[in-house]
Amino acid sequence: MTIDVPQSILDALTDVEMPRLPSDRTASEQIEVDGRTLPLYRSGCVVVGSGAAGLRTAVELRRRGGEVLVLSQSAFGGTSACSGSDKQTLHMANTADRGDNYKAMARAIRAGGAMDEDTAYVEAVGSSRAMASLQFLGLPLPQDALGGTLRYQTDHDEVGRATSCGPRTSRLMVKVLAEEALRLGIPIHNQTTVARILTDGNGAGVCGVLAFRSKDRNPGNPLGLAVYQAPVVVLAAGGPGELYRDSVYPNGCFGSLGLALEAGIDLVNLTESQFGIGTRREGFPWNLSGTYVQAMPHIYSVDAKGVEHPFLTQYYRSTQELASNIFRKGYQWPFHSTRMLDFGSSLVDLAIYREGEAGRRVFMDFNRNPLAVPGDAAFSLHRLDDDVRSYLGTAGANQSLPIDRLRHMNPLAIELYRRYKVDIVAAPLEFAVNNQHMNGGIAVDTWGRSSLANCYAVGEAAGTHGVTRPGGAALNAGQVFGTRVAEHIAASGKAKAPFAADVGTASLHAVAQVVAILQPESRWTVKSVRADVQARMSDKVGILCHVDAVTQALGDAQALNADLRATGIAPGRASEAARAVQWQQMALASEAVLVALDHYIQNGGGSRGARAICDPDGACLPMTKGGPLEAYRFRKDRAEHREEQIIVRLQDGRFHVSTRTNRSFDENGKCFFERDWPTWLTGGIYDLAHSVEEAAC
Ligand SMILES: Cc1cc2nc3c(=O)[nH]c(=O)nc-3n(C[C@H](O)[C@H](O)[C@H](O)COP(=O)(O)OP(=O)(O)OC[C@H]3O[C@@H](n4cnc5c(N)ncnc54)[C@H](O)[C@@H]3O)c2cc1C
Repeated sequence: MTIDVPQSILDALTDVEMPRLPSDRTASEQIEVDGRTLPLYRSGCVVVGSGAAGLRTAVELRRRGGEVLVLSQSAFGGTSACSGSDKQTLHMANTADRGDNYKAMARAIRAGGAMDEDTAYVEAVGSSRAMASLQFLGLPLPQDALGGTLRYQTDHDEVGRATSCGPRTSRLMVKVLAEEALRLGIPIHNQTTVARILTDGNGAGVCGVLAFRSKDRNPGNPLGLAVYQAPVVVLAAGGPGELYRDSVYPNGCFGSLGLALEAGIDLVNLTESQFGIGTRREGFPWNLSGTYVQAMPHIYSVDAKGVEHPFLTQYYRSTQELASNIFRKGYQWPFHSTRMLDFGSSLVDLAIYREGEAGRRVFMDFNRNPLAVPGDAAFSLHRLDDDVRSYLGTAGANQSLPIDRLRHMNPLAIELYRRYKVDIVAAPLEFAVNNQHMNGGIAVDTWGRSSLANCYAVGEAAGTHGVTRPGGAALNAGQVFGTRVAEHIAASGKAKAPFAADVGTASLHAVAQVVAILQPESRWTVKSVRADVQARMSDKVGILCHVDAVTQALGDAQALNADLRATGIAPGRASEAARAVQWQQMALASEAVLVALDHYIQNGGGSRGARAICDPDGACLPMTKGGPLEAYRFRKDRAEHREEQIIVRLQDGRFHVSTRTNRSFDENGKCFFERDWPTWLTGGIYDLAHSVEEAAC
């Protein structure tokens, strides 16, 4: 079987053009704040972010009659529009074969622990609708001749619930959602960076946001500040990609953790992230999962003298074991501490990490098969583990070179890099272990409500995932919760009309805070804060954490934030002011992550998910062909920690840490139509009378 896909089809799935945004209106009103005349915009709801999650919320709310305005730092920037992998994945209930069981799917989604059981069920049961509505909008998900969706197995997925439009699934999602948003006349304010959440101070919650808007910059308003007044705010600003130096996020992903902390909003599960192999954002940031590794390229490093090292041959006991574990990174992509044991697939990540520490650059060569482990036979497609041989056999990937196996299984994977002037047919590809996703974030209930009244969070901004998540669950969660948030806001009736309440005091306070950060005389610049934060996060709390180093890193982060509070950041020019504020918030977010991690480790927390907690007394010891790696002995995780989540809140300038038990879900509960219908008819399902804190209990 050979796949011969016409170039025009490959082009359409890799070069995804976005719709043109109409020019947005200028403000018809103004507000005087501390001697400044600022533009004032009003709406029923402000959505911060125009990724797949934010656009889904906006579209669903507008359809339900809500007044909604989308603000975006970069309309088609962010992770959804600019990230992907070989087959970027959507994790959704399986429509092919015998269909799916939402309860089983929910169990799989929360299998790593520290995840609310009800949230996992919400994501599972909502996935069919999320998928169908994306298809309705034109998302080209692949089907068989009878209408079943084509599926494959991905990370943390034993069933095969993954589907994909190719390398750019999430960009295609943004495209169809943006087209729908424009069709519905939803205004999208581009180049608009939210700097502060406005709260009314009387406990009623949010009342708008303060933003930097390049269009509103003028001699009377050199910073381009703008006030957006709204009774409801949805944070859909994505993940904190700039936290780490070694990162596969696109450039300029700041997320909204700092924004939320400054508004006193609870954050959850900040200890949980995903790391894995990919090409870094200094070049073309892309995940090397799926067929990139299933093709089994030769992986090697190069030292300062240009000498090649086939380092994996020092780790695995046989060529078969080495090649099979490279293959398994296809669907065991994120680093997972326990997979470093028993010669598992995360030993590949550890080995790559160690090469990086030794100052060597690591490459994947698709024109060479993996080299033989000394003393063992050469690589052969006939000597692979059973699961690997069977997969490649079914895929018909029996070509002798990795590049031909890759071309056969997924020509788009080659095409994609070619678009960015990287020809993996001609030259090896440099890569590393990178930070890729934040599983934690803003704490929300099953309707996406944060702990601040009338402020919601969706997508990667929300901390809905636990320790692990199946590949594709992030995009699914954004779609499911985007819809639910819109339903909830519509049911509350709060976003029906533009807001008229007074935001003068809140704006005054917010402008003062923003201006206080911008200190031309400060020794801190955007560049130096960035270097300080990113080096600490990548060097001290990447995939390997040493107990004392985490405490030390926390102390250093506290010192940085104390200094920033005292001296601010010097923006190079007015247009850098928004970046300066984002870096101050990122420094705060990094301290919050370290507070949570230090708390977890000091309370006996073990290795789980993306991080191994290295400890000389740890019970787990990674082995290599050459013997044990004592320096990486690590702690086991503790079962009781899977049952709870760590909450971090900034209050009166201090971080407060607490834990709460995961919310439960009764799998035996059954719906009964006549009994439950009135709760739906009267809007009782929205639980409008309770705050998120009550709902979380
Ligand atoms: C390389 C890579 C591969 C991935 N592959 C998968 C996959 O296969 N499956 C999967 O499920 N997930 C995957 N993920 C994760 C997934 O892509 C993201 O979690 C998801 O796209 C986040 O969507 P979002 O809408 O929440 O945020 P984003 O798409 O990041 O959008 C955030 C938006 O907020 C805006 N914004 C940010 N800050 C501000 C501000 N202060 N003011 C105004 N606007 C702001 C940005 O401009 C942007 O429009 C991958 C991630 C990466 C990095």
